[in-house]
Amino acid sequence: MKINTAEFIISNSDVSKCPKEPLPEYAFIGRSNVGKSSLINMLTGRNSLAKTSGKPGKTQLINHFKINENWFLVDLPGYGYARVSKSTKETFQQFITDYFENREQLVCGFVLVDIRLEAQKIDLEFINYLGEKEVPFCIIFTKADKISKGKQQQHVAAYRKKLLAEGWEEMPQHFVTSSSEGTGREEVLAFIDGVNQD
Ligand code: GDP
Repeated sequence: MKINTAEFIISNSDVSKCPKEPLPEYAFIGRSNVGKSSLINMLTGRNSLAKTSGKPGKTQLINHFKINENWFLVDLPGYGYARVSKSTKETFQQFITDYFENREQLVCGFVLVDIRLEAQKIDLEFINYLGEKEVPFCIIFTKADKISKGKQQQHVAAYRKKLLAEGWEEMPQHFVTSSSEGTGREEVLAFIDGVNQD
């Protein structure tokens, strides 16, 4: 998919105030610092569409971007500071769970995880939560350039094993990406394009 236009539309923490247009939307979420802003900028080919860490003004909001006038890319707040022993409702902010449970336009969530790390408890908790709510999602492994190809495969295989141990029947659809090298860009965009054509 060629990205012709990428336009910021609105930020808010109230799902009922998200855009009303019935366009398909894809939401990106993950632990703070996982590389979400970098990935969004890499996918859209815009250097500063999403604010990367360190830049001021990074807020805990639902950010809607309209892409090519025909779908929304949604940048959700990073999670990971809350204690994981709490219930999902408390661990993930209410408006995030409201979003996933009530946003009719949502077609697919992308859960970002750092490819270098073992499966983190809070990510597994979020993935299991999406499973319980039957929200379609993919996993995006980030920062692949930081380890060798061989290690990437090992880490993905270990993640799969962990999910199967958690009760998943199969590894969800997943992508290996590097924002600094552009890895996975075509694959993720082709996936979105394919779903939008259905
Ligand atoms: P966010 O908090 O999830 O939005 O994360 P950022 O996109 O701000 O990235 C956090 C840090 O990781 C920054 O220092 C980025 O430069 C770095 N980073 C993000 N993606 C990549 C990547 O694909 N490769 C490498 N080497 N560094 C990355």
